[in-house]
Amino acid sequence: MRYSIFSLAKNAWSGHKNWKPAWREPEPKSSYDVVIVGGGGHGLSTAYYLAKEHGITNVAVLEKSWLGSGNIGRNTTIIRSNYMLPGNEPFYEKSLQLWEGLEQDFNFNAMISQRGIMNLYHSDAQRDGFARRGNAMRIHGVDAELLDREQVREMVPFLDFDNARFPIQGALIQRRGGTVRHDAVAWGFARGADSRGVDIIQNCEVQGIKIENGKVLGVETSRGSIGCNKLALCAAGNSSEVAAMAGMKLPLESHVLQAFVSEGLKPYIPNVVTFGAGHFYVSQSNKGGLVFGGDLDGYNSYARRGNLPTVEHVIEAGVSMIPGLSRIKVLRSWGGIMDMSMDGTPIIDKTHIPNMYLNCGWCYGGFKATPASGWCYAYTIANDRPHEFNSLMRLDRFRTGYTVDEKGAGAQPNLH
Ligand SMILES: Cc1cc2nc3c(=O)[nH]c(=O)nc-3n(C[C@H](O)[C@H](O)[C@H](O)COP(=O)(O)OP(=O)(O)OC[C@H]3O[C@@H](n4cnc5c(N)ncnc54)[C@H](O)[C@@H]3O)c2cc1C
Repeated sequence: MRYSIFSLAKNAWSGHKNWKPAWREPEPKSSYDVVIVGGGGHGLSTAYYLAKEHGITNVAVLEKSWLGSGNIGRNTTIIRSNYMLPGNEPFYEKSLQLWEGLEQDFNFNAMISQRGIMNLYHSDAQRDGFARRGNAMRIHGVDAELLDREQVREMVPFLDFDNARFPIQGALIQRRGGTVRHDAVAWGFARGADSRGVDIIQNCEVQGIKIENGKVLGVETSRGSIGCNKLALCAAGNSSEVAAMAGMKLPLESHVLQAFVSEGLKPYIPNVVTFGAGHFYVSQSNKGGLVFGGDLDGYNSYARRGNLPTVEHVIEAGVSMIPGLSRIKVLRSWGGIMDMSMDGTPIIDKTHIPNMYLNCGWCYGGFKATPASGWCYAYTIANDRPHEFNSLMRLDRFRTGYTVDEKGAGAQPNLH
């Protein structure tokens, strides 16, 4: 069923009793052309673009839990393409362009809101760094503007401009950045893939990978064996565990990242604002809650919950940036498992096993990448070679030394 004003009116007329489920609940078949491990944003978008762009529809997405239970439903919903390095910028810009047409493309309301993202700077050196980033973006044809203090004050007057320790001097703004309703992205891609014939199988945990003569034959799951011609790993925070089933040790660490939502407030924060003197970012949801986050919890873990010292640390950074936050109640918080790569850049690549592919290393920036990740991964799987956009997101870069170290933090995943 296509969603439109007419289908809405028709269903309203019949008391909204005739809406069909957004996707089927099929039993797994014995074999597929492509099996995707992980029904997060990236697994679902990969299935969608495999079907839509490459006509490959005999595909299963195997999800151990329910759709949206992973990071796709846990992130702080920020999208942007304000990257600097050639290995990243064209990829993230491709993603932003896909976001711009996505709701029409997959016929689902994902509440994409290009309200702008503003990165504050607090020193001359930081201004120079941001000017360099903005110039690099503009060379790639991407929008970026450097704002001075008064321009920032006009847009977000509630910030602590005269903060004694970190006075705000200005900001780099990308007006096309913004927010998207994260779980709707999973649902939209799931519905779009399902309508093209992809089987989305929830509560189906991959527990083993069957390899013979150097080739993947299929996977062992909690719902039985499933054969495949190609296997695409897409398990985000659990990537290391899943790849270990094929004997691979990935250059990743799993870390916890927390997110927070406040009580509902009147419209207050018009865009996404990030603190340049600490790690804090905030936006306001359409329901009025402030959605914010900050640093990783700082140690390796597969637990999807964080700890109080990090809660205190994040809130302190927030209050330094917006003193008024100290009077707001936090309603809820949660954690997700981040697949942190050694240079902060993801991996979308083939592996040493000829029919097995890898998509991981998203750190805490993979939500914005969801459409381009699926688009590039689908291309890589269908053509058996990376697309130009993911040509530097290679697994072997940690052996060859061609890393894409956007943050300049080196092999320190906890700092990326
Ligand atoms: C608190 C927080 C805030 C964030 N904020 C942002 C942000 O503002 N902007 C941004 O760009 N990014 C953000 N991110 C990062 C982003 O959410 C992730 O990088 C991205 O969602 C990861 O890709 P995914 O959606 O496919 O992951 P997931 O949704 O985690 O999908 C992976 C799936 O694999 C499944 N799986 C794992 N093992 C198996 C198995 N053995 N068998 C079957 N299935 C399996 C999991 O259950 C999971 O559903 C944030 C993340 C967190 C946690």
